[in-house]
Amino acid sequence: MNKLDSELVAGLLAKSDYQPTSDPAEAQVAILNTCSVRDHAEQKALSRLGHFDHLRRTSGKPEIIAIMGCFAQRSPEYILQRVPFVDVLCGPSQIHQLPELITTTRRDREKSKKIHTKRAVTDFRQIRSGKASPADDLENLDLCRPVEETQFQRFVRVQRGCDKFCSYCVVPFVRGPESSRPVDHILEEVRRIDQTGCKEITLIGQTISSYRFVSDGQTVDLPELLYRVHQACSIPRIRFITSYPADFSLNIFKAIAELRRICPYLHLPAQHGSNRVLQLMNRKYAVETYLEILEQGRRIVPGLSVAGDFIVGFPTETDQDHNHSITLLENVRYKNCFIFKYSVRPGTLAEKRFTDDVSDEIKSRRHRQMLEVQDRISREDNQSLVGKTVDVLVEGISKKNRSNQENVKQLVGRTVEDKIVIFEGPETLKGEIERVKITAVSSLTLFAERCNGRN
Ligand code: SAH
Ligand code: SF4
Repeated sequence: MNKLDSELVAGLLAKSDYQPTSDPAEAQVAILNTCSVRDHAEQKALSRLGHFDHLRRTSGKPEIIAIMGCFAQRSPEYILQRVPFVDVLCGPSQIHQLPELITTTRRDREKSKKIHTKRAVTDFRQIRSGKASPADDLENLDLCRPVEETQFQRFVRVQRGCDKFCSYCVVPFVRGPESSRPVDHILEEVRRIDQTGCKEITLIGQTISSYRFVSDGQTVDLPELLYRVHQACSIPRIRFITSYPADFSLNIFKAIAELRRICPYLHLPAQHGSNRVLQLMNRKYAVETYLEILEQGRRIVPGLSVAGDFIVGFPTETDQDHNHSITLLENVRYKNCFIFKYSVRPGTLAEKRFTDDVSDEIKSRRHRQMLEVQDRISREDNQSLVGKTVDVLVEGISKKNRSNQENVKQLVGRTVEDKIVIFEGPETLKGEIERVKITAVSSLTLFAERCNGRN
């Protein structure tokens, strides 16, 4: 979501005659996009802002320091208290106003300081209670996002916000109510992207499995949307994230099985393996339901690749609860898992109801344990791929490129199952889909060589 919002802002600023620069000490405006899901992300944002301030004191640039995203929405007062030098705050639903906020600030810094705290954040409670409506121009902004020929991977928003209110999560407060984007808008954007020769789109929503839009009297749900998107374009890879287990329809699997270009990949966070904790988390499903969904999914889509999210150290979590999470890891055999230590988020139900009573030490131990188990599972499952050929969408030169040769680089890309592959080849393969043969594996990476062509 944040990557997409950053692109939107970059596009908007380009229209207002700003050029991007990679050097903050050269910038008139520096905008930090922020995440609020865990405290750690917020602290990192504050320290990065401190760095901008230091630059400004020494070099006079960036002239304007702006903060956008969920942190700006969650707590403008706290931000101004910690980093009072910030000039502009802008929540996720105000990004269409960001150029204007910057212009006002450049004109009159003191005046804008007074207005921006109030104006830059939306009161989502008013929208939820029907007293206010979300801004239409925000929706249009997505539609006007520039489509660049060089972008071979694109995100397409299909949903905003979230209404699930998992007890630990700040997203419903900072991203606002769940709303599904009109089908026509999505299809129009997809068609436009298709014309640029783009290789992969990822449809995104916080709980994309609950996508629902009434169009010409017909309800379009996620499976129907997948059919329509598939029909509307020839983009070779179509993904969608993130699915929520409680409103998951098996028709989603049927769509994946029937539509060749929908990737056999699912991001379906479980968050926990204990029903007791899931209940405290306000996740509205039981472990048994979750397993049943995946069992059916793997039957309908053989080779389905599944990624997950887990939280360790949720209040009251016992060793026994934790063991249930490990058992779930073993039962599902995810492709990979994002495992997080519980972080108290102000304003959430969990903050109000529970004490953060699992010590940091225990959280770290459980976190390590989960990572170790998942690491072993990923390595074992990857092992069976040695000798197989796969198609890789090449994303660029690997960060650990060890090749000194001018025209042979270590390239990195992904399979349709979202597995990371590293192989040697010319940089010109970036953005292309290349067939490779897997020669070795680790838990997170497949190592391969090209099947066709010479290096
Ligand atoms: N909408 C997605 C996830 C959005 S947040 C979903 O429901 O699956 C991304 C991940 O951050 C979550 O899946 C969860 O695992 C983690 N997360 C959210 N709030 C957290 C918190 N307070 N502490 C630790 N991890 C958290
Ligand atoms: Fe947060 Fe739950 Fe919504 Fe995901 S579904 S964004 S975890 S509240």
